[in-house]
Amino acid sequence: MSTSSSIPSRLDVPKRLLLGPGPSEVDSAVLSALSQPTLGHLDPVFLRVMDECRQMLRHVFGTKNDLTIPMSGTGSAGMETLMVNLLEPGDRALIVVNGVFGGRMAESARRAGAAVHELRIPWGEVVSVKRLREALTQMGGRAELIALVHAETSTGALQPLEGLRAVADEAGALLALDTVTSLSGCPVDLDRFGVDAAYSGSQKCLSCPPGLAPVSLSDRALSRLRARKSPVQSWYLDLTLIAQYWGNERAYHHTAPTNMVVALHEALRICCEEGLEARFERHRRAGKALQAGLVAMGLKLPVPDAIRLPQLTVVSVPEGVDAASVQRAMLQEHGIEIGGGLGDLKGRAWRIGMMGSGATLANITRCLAAMSGALESEGFMPCGDGAAAAAAAWSA
Ligand SMILES: *Cc1c(COP(=O)(O)O)cnc(C)c1O
Repeated sequence: MSTSSSIPSRLDVPKRLLLGPGPSEVDSAVLSALSQPTLGHLDPVFLRVMDECRQMLRHVFGTKNDLTIPMSGTGSAGMETLMVNLLEPGDRALIVVNGVFGGRMAESARRAGAAVHELRIPWGEVVSVKRLREALTQMGGRAELIALVHAETSTGALQPLEGLRAVADEAGALLALDTVTSLSGCPVDLDRFGVDAAYSGSQKCLSCPPGLAPVSLSDRALSRLRARKSPVQSWYLDLTLIAQYWGNERAYHHTAPTNMVVALHEALRICCEEGLEARFERHRRAGKALQAGLVAMGLKLPVPDAIRLPQLTVVSVPEGVDAASVQRAMLQEHGIEIGGGLGDLKGRAWRIGMMGSGATLANITRCLAAMSGALESEGFMPCGDGAAAAAAAWSA
C-alpha cells in the first residue's frame, strides 16, 4: 500500500446472535481455545489433541470406526472426501435428492466419475425404504454406493435411518450419510444404523467456527478404499495418505490447521461434558419451543411435525412480506442472523437454526420478539404471543 490512509483499519467485528443454518453460536471457551499459541502439526501436545479429537468424534458419531478424523475444510470437503475415496469411475451411485445438499452429493459423485442415479423426491419429504428399494430395482439391483442426507438443512426434514442398511446390503453398496446438521443435534449412531461413511461440519450443532469436516469410515468402507483399482482422484482429500498422518505413522501430508483442531477439541469436550442425551434433549426442546412460538404468531411451518428437525426450522414467508427485508431488519436492528430459503425455497422461506450452544429459550425469545417487530413493519400482524407459547412449550 502506498499511503497509510489506504490501509484498512483494524477490524472490530460485531457480536451477532447466529440463528441461521450455520455458522452457529460459538462458546467463548472455544474462541479462547482458538486464540491459544499455534502448535506445530507434529508437536507432541498436538498429537495428543489429535488422538483425543478422534476419540471424542467416535463418541458423537456413535461409532467404533478407527478412521474417524476431522478433514481440513468445511462440510463440503467432507462430502467430497467420501465421494472421491469411495467411488471409482464407472461405479454406480444411488443418491437421494430431496433438497440442495442431496443435489450437491449427486454432482460430487458424478465428478468422481460415478454413474449416478438420482432418486428425486419432493423437497421437505424423506425417502421410505420401499421407495429406495424401487429405485435400486430400476438400476438393476446393484450399486456401489447409496447416499442420503440425514438432516436436510435446505428443507428442515429429518431422514429416518431404520431399514436403510438392509437395502444397502441387498445392493452390495456402501451406505453414506451427510450428518452436517445432525451431528450432536440429534442421534446419529453410525454403528447402530450400519452407516459405512459419514461426514459433518464443525459450524453447525458442534458450535465450533467453520473450517473442519469430521468424517468416519467403517471397516467395510476402508476395504473398498484399499481395493481401489485407480488412485483417489483428489490428492488433497486422499484418505489413504491422510490416514497415515492421523494414524501411528504421523507422516506429513498437509499442515493440519492446528488452531482449528484445538478449537474443535474444546467444542467436542463441551459436547461430551453436557452429555449427548442431554444435548439432544435441549435441541428437541428448543425446536419445539421455537416452532410453537412461530405457529402462535400465525406463521406456517411446511414440514410435517413427524419429520421436522428441531435444530433447523423452515418457516414459510407470508403473502405480501419481503423475506429479505425481515432478515435485514433482524440483523441491523437486533443483531440476529437467520437464514433465507435456498434453491426452490429462495425468497419463500426463512431458516432458523437452534444449533449447539445457541439452542436456548432466551435466544428463542429474542428471535421471536425481533421477528414480530420486523413482520409488523412489513404489514403482517402476528396474531398471538410467540414468546409465551415458546416458554410454555419449553417447559412442557
Ligand atoms: C452446511 C451443510 C453442508 C455444507 O457444509 P459447508 O460447511 O457449507 O461446506 C452440507 N450438508 C448439509 C446438510 C449442510 O447443512
